[in-house]
Amino acid sequence: MNKHEMERYIVSHLDTALEQGWIKLYLQPLVRTITDSYSGAEALARWADPTLGMIMPDMFVPVLEREGLIWKVDCFMVTETMRLQKERIDAGLPVGRISVNLSRQDFETVDVAAFVQRQIDRFGIRKDLIAIELTESLLVQNKERMVRIVKELRSDGFQIWMDDFGSGYSSLIFLNDYTLDLIKLDMGFLRSFTHTSRTIMRSAVDMAKKLGIRTLAEGVETEEQVRFLKEIGCDMMQGYYYTKPFPAGSLPEFIERRDMEAETIEWTGFYDRADAYVINSDTPRAVMEYHRKTDQLHFLFLNQSEKEQLRSLGRTTVADSEFVLNNRDDPLHANVEEYLERVYRTGESVTMYAMDNSCFVRTSSRLAASREDRCIFVTSIVNVTKDRNEKIGKNLDKSLADLVLLFDDVHLLNPEADTADNLINNLGINAGLIDHDRLRAGLQFFCDHMIYPEDQERYRSFADADTMIGRLKKTSDGVLRGYFRVLIPAGDAKGSYRWNEFNLLLIPGSEKVLSCIKNAEPTES
Ligand code: C2E
Ligand code: CA
Ligand code: CA
Repeated sequence: MNKHEMERYIVSHLDTALEQGWIKLYLQPLVRTITDSYSGAEALARWADPTLGMIMPDMFVPVLEREGLIWKVDCFMVTETMRLQKERIDAGLPVGRISVNLSRQDFETVDVAAFVQRQIDRFGIRKDLIAIELTESLLVQNKERMVRIVKELRSDGFQIWMDDFGSGYSSLIFLNDYTLDLIKLDMGFLRSFTHTSRTIMRSAVDMAKKLGIRTLAEGVETEEQVRFLKEIGCDMMQGYYYTKPFPAGSLPEFIERRDMEAETIEWTGFYDRADAYVINSDTPRAVMEYHRKTDQLHFLFLNQSEKEQLRSLGRTTVADSEFVLNNRDDPLHANVEEYLERVYRTGESVTMYAMDNSCFVRTSSRLAASREDRCIFVTSIVNVTKDRNEKIGKNLDKSLADLVLLFDDVHLLNPEADTADNLINNLGINAGLIDHDRLRAGLQFFCDHMIYPEDQERYRSFADADTMIGRLKKTSDGVLRGYFRVLIPAGDAKGSYRWNEFNLLLIPGSEKVLSCIKNAEPTES
C-alpha cells in the first residue's frame, strides 16, 4: 500500500475504526521533577488496524486534519480520557491530570469548549483532571477568536498547555497574547542537547517561572537529561526514559513496576506551588517538604549555589544533609524541628543562626504551601563562618586601633599555658615579653631588666603568673592595677625610669588575661 492508498484507506475507514474500537487511548506518563512521582499523562491516539496493524498518529493525524475529520478522533479521545478518569475515581485509584491534544481544525468544525464541558457534566469529574494541549500553529491563525476561546476555557477551569514550544517561529509572542498554564518544551531541544539548546531551555524555564507558567520537557531519554532538567528547575518530564506510550489499561502496571508514587489531583496544586519556588538563581535556595506528623524533612530541590553551601558544611550529598536533619540523635534536630514549627506558625520569613560542623550557619525560611500535615518551605542555608570571622577580625582590628591610643603595650597572657602574645608594643622596650613568648620567663626577664630595682619586689607579686587568675577572680571588676617605674632605654632619655600604669584584665568567661600598660608620668601643666 503506497502513501496515497494509505491515506484513502484512513479517510474511508475512520468511522468504522471509531465504531469498532480500533482507535485506542494510549498514555504517556508525566513525571513531576521534584518528587519523581507520576503526576498525570498525555493521551495519545493509536489506530490498531485489524488488517494493517498499528498505524501511528504521524500517519493518520495529518490526513484527517487536511480532510476536516480529526475532530472525530479528538472528541473520542476526550471522552475516553474522561471515562478512564471516572473509572479510576470509582475504583478508588489515584488520578492525575491527563492532557489531550486538540487540533486547530477542531475549533473550526465543532464547538470544542461546549463539547468538553458536556463530557465533564456527563461523567461528573473535576475540570482540572483534563488539560488541553494546543500547538503554536493553532494559535497563530485566527488569533482574536483563539484568544477568546482560550480565555473562556481557562476561566471555565481547564488547563491550557502549549505543545511543541520553541518549534515554531513565534513562540514568544504567544506568551504575550495568551495566558497559558504550561509550556511543553519541544523535543528538538533535548534531541540536540548542545550547549546552545541547553541555554535556550534554561532561559525558557527561567522566563516561564517569572511569568507564572509551568514547564514540561518532552522527549526525555537519558539520565543526563533528567539531571539537567532537575538542575534548571523544569517542572515536569515526559519521554522514553520513563516509558513509551502504553495502552490506558496498563497504567496501574506502570505505576507499580516503576515503584512510583502516584500524585493525586488533590495534591497537584500543592506541588505546583512548590514548583513555583524551584528557581535556579544565583542565591542559595532549597525547597523542602516537611511532614509535621512524622517530623521528617526532605529536599525537593537545591540550586547549585545551595549545593555549594552544603558542601562547605561537609555535606557532600543531599542524602547526607537529610540524614543529619532527620536524625533524632543529632543535637541539631530539636533546633530544626522547633524552628520549622515557628516558620510554619508565623507564615513569614524566619532566620536562625546555628553551629553545624564547627561552622556558623544562617538559615532563612518561609512557608510556601501547606496541606494537611505537609508543608513546603523555601529555605536558604548559608555558611557564614567566613563572613563572621572576617567581621570579628575587622572589629578586632578596630578595637586594637583604639587600644593603641590608650595603651603603649598590650599582651594577651595565658598563665595556664604559660604563653604571652604581643598585641601592641609602643613602649620602646625591645627586651621583655616580645622576645619571650613563654610567660613566666618573660615576666622574670622584664622584672630583672626593666623594672626600677626598688619596685621589683612589688612587681614580682603583682605579676605572679601562678596566682594571677585567682587574684583576678577575687576582685569585683576583674581588674588588677599597679604602678611601677619602667626603664626607657631609647634616645635622649637613655637610662631613665618612668612611671607606668599596669592593668591586668580578666577576659570574661576565660582563663586569659589582657595586660595593658600605659604611661603614668604626671603631665606638665
Ligand atoms: P506530540 O503531541 O508532540 O506527542 C509526543 C510524541 O512524541 C508522541 O508520538 C510520543 O510517542 C513521542 N515521544 C514521547 N516521548 C518520546 C521520546 O522520548 N523520544 C521520541 N523520539 N519520541 C517520543 P505519537 O504518539 O506518535 O504522536 C505524534 C503526534 O501526533 C503527537 O505529537 C501529536 O501531535 C499527534 N497526536 C497524537 N495523538 C493525537 C490525538 O489524539 N489528537 C491529535 N489532534 N493529535 C494527536
Ligand atoms: Ca502533545
Ligand atoms: Ca509535543
